[in-house]
Amino acid sequence: MLGLMMQQPLLISSLLVHAERHHGEQEIVSRRVEGDLHRQTFRELASRSRRMAQALKTLGVADSERVGTLAWNGHRHMELYYAVSGMGAVLHTLNPRLHPEQLAWIANHAEDKVLCFDMTFHPLVEAVAAHLPQVRHFIAMTDRAHMPATSKIANLLCYEELMEGAADGFEWPQFDENHASSLCYTSGTTGNPKGALYSHRSTVLHTYAAALPDSLNLSARDVVLPVVPMFHVNAWGLPYAACMVGAKLVFPGPHLDGKSLHDLFEGEKVTLSAGVPTVWQGLLGYVHANQLRFSTMNRTVIGGSACPPAMMKAFQDGYGVHVLHAWGMTELSPLGTACVFKAGQDELPAAQRDAIQAKQGRAIFGIDMKIVGDDGQELPWDGKASGELMVRGPWVITEYLKGEGGSPLRDGWFPTGDVAMIDPQGFMQITDRSKDVIKSGGEWIGSIDLENIAMAHPAVAMAACIAAHHPKWDERPLLVVMKKPGAEVTREELIAFYEGKIAKWWTPDDVVFVDAIPLGATGKMQKNKLRDQFKDYRLPTA
Ligand code: ADP
Repeated sequence: MLGLMMQQPLLISSLLVHAERHHGEQEIVSRRVEGDLHRQTFRELASRSRRMAQALKTLGVADSERVGTLAWNGHRHMELYYAVSGMGAVLHTLNPRLHPEQLAWIANHAEDKVLCFDMTFHPLVEAVAAHLPQVRHFIAMTDRAHMPATSKIANLLCYEELMEGAADGFEWPQFDENHASSLCYTSGTTGNPKGALYSHRSTVLHTYAAALPDSLNLSARDVVLPVVPMFHVNAWGLPYAACMVGAKLVFPGPHLDGKSLHDLFEGEKVTLSAGVPTVWQGLLGYVHANQLRFSTMNRTVIGGSACPPAMMKAFQDGYGVHVLHAWGMTELSPLGTACVFKAGQDELPAAQRDAIQAKQGRAIFGIDMKIVGDDGQELPWDGKASGELMVRGPWVITEYLKGEGGSPLRDGWFPTGDVAMIDPQGFMQITDRSKDVIKSGGEWIGSIDLENIAMAHPAVAMAACIAAHHPKWDERPLLVVMKKPGAEVTREELIAFYEGKIAKWWTPDDVVFVDAIPLGATGKMQKNKLRDQFKDYRLPTA
């Protein structure tokens, strides 16, 4: 017997239709490349998205064709999110921080037919355009007044002109909810980047899950400022979730320095933000140096790499901003777990609460997880056993675009490449990525713990712990440190700083100081580069 309920496909356009009908006056505020602070309502967003869909259709964009974007967080990017997916084409967000050659490789692999870009990236697009034979149209996301006087790109189109020339009568087509909606490439720290192709269904289900109280806890009363770029796994789903719940959105555009962010947080009464740990360092430094406060921001989502407990403390104890530690990956749309206390845990002593918050959190409904040993057998949830983290759920990939790399699944589970423990309450903690684990005399040392301790030292701006070759133990931890400007600390002081905080044999054997730690296109430390740099490093042997 079948249920007698309406069949409505879960489509991304339905989020926009809802936002227009039920939150039409809600605002989207964007700091634009042009320099101004632009305001529009959800009603205007809906109308402009329909017109952009019409314009793209007129340009000949067909069902399932990929439309690439190279853009900051802003209202035009948001319009494209809805226009492209809504019309049945596939939004392909490209990461402008990638090397131009890699960018061209990805756009060609994805077969992008249109490329829309912010003017910041005009020189970049000029440089790669000749290597993109499949792109039929290049669209500069600006108005006529800000179009470049000359361009190496033939027939460069103007976004606002296309918008003006398009009628508002476009109707969102209805189609199978499993239709592809958007495409993101993994940053490919190993091998070529691979495409995760999301569907309307996976995106809408992920959006419901993201909004839940024990995930990001979003509501119509929130003002959300995603610092995480819209080219990094769909800004963790916030552009969709804001429409679902009717939250005000604030987009920082290209201005991600501490002052610009703080001005926006205060000026627009932001309640929630989200980003990787490295971006928050600049903000915290600025707020501290200028003795400022956050008057409305009450929580921030930190993920993408482990949030150092010292950063959590700075936000929470120093500024009353609650840190929501979350874990995910491109292959998971991206949310997998969020660290929110269960009943009673709020009242625990501070040290125990801190220990819980350092974990990446509990599975959000829809995602199931387990840890397995080398033999593939499931390991216990005792908070001690660590093994590879496997996940499954309706917003986890089944394979990469064009079957690249073969089937990633093992017995229906997606192996994340992360090493984790799970405690009896179901809180998961990442100890490492499997390729970053340090194997000392056959035992594993988790580099994240070692980095977190170093980052708690007042003189340390950033720390990475990598395996260095050791004649007896095979590998031993080498700590690579970037000091805070003007701060001083010695190797001996840092090694002594570990005393009593960790098992003695985990203590790094040596410390090297560097001017900068290389960051990847999504703001994560590139430990593979450091490993290359220090591959011949000789540890002091006792
Ligand atoms: P890439 O794998 O290309 O770097 P992702 O952005 O998909 O791109 O990164 C996913 C990975 O980031 C995870 O597998 C995990 O190693 C790491 N990660 C994400 N969130 C956290 C977190 N809160 N703590 C530790 N590691 C994290």
